Amino acid sequence: MHIDLNPKLDFRDVLIRPKRSVLASRFEANISRTFGFRHSSQEWTGFPLIASNMDTIGTLEMADAFRPFGALVALHKFYDPDRLAKYLDGHANPNVFLTVGTGASDWDRLAAVKKQIKVPMLNIDVANGYTENFVRAVSKLREENPDAIIMAGTVVTAEMTEALVIAGADIVRVGIGSGSVCTTRDLTGVGYPQLSAVIECADAAHGLKGHVCSDGGCTVPGDIAKAYGGGADFVMLGGMLAGHAECGGELRYVEEGGKQVPKSMVFYGMSSETAMNKYHGGVADYRAAEGKTVEVPYRGEVRATVETIAGGLRSAMTYMGAENLKEIPKRTTFILVNAQRNTVFD
Ligand code: 5GP
Repeated sequence: MHIDLNPKLDFRDVLIRPKRSVLASRFEANISRTFGFRHSSQEWTGFPLIASNMDTIGTLEMADAFRPFGALVALHKFYDPDRLAKYLDGHANPNVFLTVGTGASDWDRLAAVKKQIKVPMLNIDVANGYTENFVRAVSKLREENPDAIIMAGTVVTAEMTEALVIAGADIVRVGIGSGSVCTTRDLTGVGYPQLSAVIECADAAHGLKGHVCSDGGCTVPGDIAKAYGGGADFVMLGGMLAGHAECGGELRYVEEGGKQVPKSMVFYGMSSETAMNKYHGGVADYRAAEGKTVEVPYRGEVRATVETIAGGLRSAMTYMGAENLKEIPKRTTFILVNAQRNTVFD
């Protein structure tokens, strides 16, 4: 048995210290960044925010709404291959990851898309990125897709980040148990505070010319600034994007003035009973659900939410004096706090 006595931090444990700045206004803060990658020779330019490949979030409708912002969507893996191929064909710059797991049916689906069109960005997604089987799958995906931008995860420690980068990942997804509808920590006792996971994994990845995506745990726009501050190159969101018109969740209506208006929307984890019933014919005997199902208020179109996120980020950059995203970690000093904010009117 071993106890790591170094403090490990979550977004809620810190604030970002303001710094003297030459930026005159938040409009000077540039949230578009150009990336080169460790394995892929492609360049990618845009706002490195990714809608999660949860089936309620990573939809084609979300991709259409994100495109004007230059942001990305990891499409969920349940789309029909022909539909995906048609979508990729219809956009010069689709800004979407296609998602696979490690199962044969996912790889067959990818092969069916690839027969029709080049797939530039791939996301290989498992709940536990620590198995040898997963590392082998990442190597195989790289072998079969030498020039794709490949994102792989999830992990929360440096040594596994290095293993995935070496195996073929351009971007390592970081986060276990931090998600809004995740119950892994309750059920298993396994996890890692998200900010520390990002800081440690980013350091490991960057040393190998790899990148990281902070996945899970952002609850307010300020958390996204903190994730970039900790060294995240990309930030993935699930819960903060839930409840919008572009989402795949079931809508619940109420009657107002004789009309049915949307009131709330169902949102659930990809390992929840809801998801397992939908896609796997129930929860397998040997495992328990590691996700929950919630109902979130209906919030209309996602555009306003993305604008708020982008606005918050630009403002954070103005406070810390960062002109562009790459400068954020260099300008970030985290301070440990006991409270995030004034709660008197909560
Ligand atoms: P959020 O932004 O909602 O805090 O986190 C989103 C992330 O939670 C997803 O991208 C995914 O990595 C993770 N996640 C989604 N569904 C589940 C689930 O059912 N169980 C677990 N453990 N994690 C999940």
